[in-house]
Amino acid sequence: MSFPYEAPVSQSLFDRASAVTPGGVNSPVRAFRAVGGTPRFMVSGTGPYLTDADGREYVDLVCSWGPMILGHSHPEVIAAVQEAVARGTSFGTPGAGEVELAEEIVARIEPVEQVRLVSSGTEATMSAIRLARGFTGRPKVIKFAGCYHGHVDALLAAAGSGVATFGLPDTPGVTGAQAGDTIVLPYNDLEAVRAAFAAHPGEIACVITEASPGNMGVVPPLAGFNQGLKDLCSADGALYISDEVMTGFRVSKAGWYGIDGVRPDLMTFGKVMGGGFPAAAFGGRADVMAHLAPAGPVYQAGTLSGNPIATAAGVAQLRLLDDAAYEKVDAVSAEVRGLVTAALAKEGVAHRVQAAGNMFTVFFTDAEVTDYEGAKAQEAFRFTAFFHSMLSQGVYLPPSAFESWFVSTAHDTAAVERIAAALPAAARAAAGATA
Ligand code: PLP
Repeated sequence: MSFPYEAPVSQSLFDRASAVTPGGVNSPVRAFRAVGGTPRFMVSGTGPYLTDADGREYVDLVCSWGPMILGHSHPEVIAAVQEAVARGTSFGTPGAGEVELAEEIVARIEPVEQVRLVSSGTEATMSAIRLARGFTGRPKVIKFAGCYHGHVDALLAAAGSGVATFGLPDTPGVTGAQAGDTIVLPYNDLEAVRAAFAAHPGEIACVITEASPGNMGVVPPLAGFNQGLKDLCSADGALYISDEVMTGFRVSKAGWYGIDGVRPDLMTFGKVMGGGFPAAAFGGRADVMAHLAPAGPVYQAGTLSGNPIATAAGVAQLRLLDDAAYEKVDAVSAEVRGLVTAALAKEGVAHRVQAAGNMFTVFFTDAEVTDYEGAKAQEAFRFTAFFHSMLSQGVYLPPSAFESWFVSTAHDTAAVERIAAALPAAARAAAGATA
């Protein structure tokens, strides 16, 4: 498709970036490859808005892929960061900020009795799996097709056909040995999980699942699915790991656990808990966490883990996230979902808006999406047209049809009105799109 609007400064930055960085970006989705066009290089963010290097302002519906739940440059978070920076940036020793952030997490999420801080969601899931294997003395891991847990070697295995497919590496650089103990199953298919446990009794260390998936677009667990996973794990002596990197502290004070109440053995967190800085965590049952070094034999460490700036930002952000904040985010999310539905319906575009709390995705299909195959069956080409129309009118959506949209407490009436004003043309573009 052609892109009638231009972003010359972003384009020149992208050209320079492409010379020195593979694909011009430091995380693939930023390159706009799914939708085409010039990735926007952002220079600042305030409240619900981002400003790009060409000086254009956008209503941001990505929120840094989830973390910016209070909007950009929240004054209290910025003040906490400035105060922390003034005291120094990294000490390589324990610090009070780490204790405060850990206490904040433990206080909010009842199944988390102990928590270890790390710097990325990838580190959190990688470490949780190592701990599960170390605790159980078992090798195998069950994951679900379409669930993303960061770029951990063992978790970059995708499903082949069949029910209990052994993972084939999804990327060059991951060996068969690294992925060979990963069993990839279709999401929301409890029978497949039951069959895998029956086929490998006493061999499965853990089941890891996104608490409510957002990485194939928003595909919530069907009623009873998470509880079923937990029960199958308990019956076999495996651990149930709920990955709340995306949902944690976003969909409620206690994340998805606060919504479905299924008690995991271990949980992973990231995004919101860092207030826009690299902070993540894994935690859960104290008897399992006791196996972690230096308390126990399972090794795990990090030079910048519990970094004072990141923990200061995280503590400040979490303390601002009270019930009223979640009510606000939920309300904005519902409003935007309603506006998108109305605009697409008016143009007769087949679509389905799926939500998990305040996270949501607009799938371009009539059918309910319950797994990765369903997500892939949508008419993604319509999203491409929709995306570029919104972008040209100053609304920044995730540059892929397989992602969650995110809003914040800062998305006020003015921001929602800008979204509403852009939707009719975007819906017409989606209606007129061809594959
Ligand atoms: N787990 C989930 C559910 C995620 O959504 C992500 C990132 O999007 C990760 C893990 C990996 O986190 P990070 O990108 O911080 O490594």
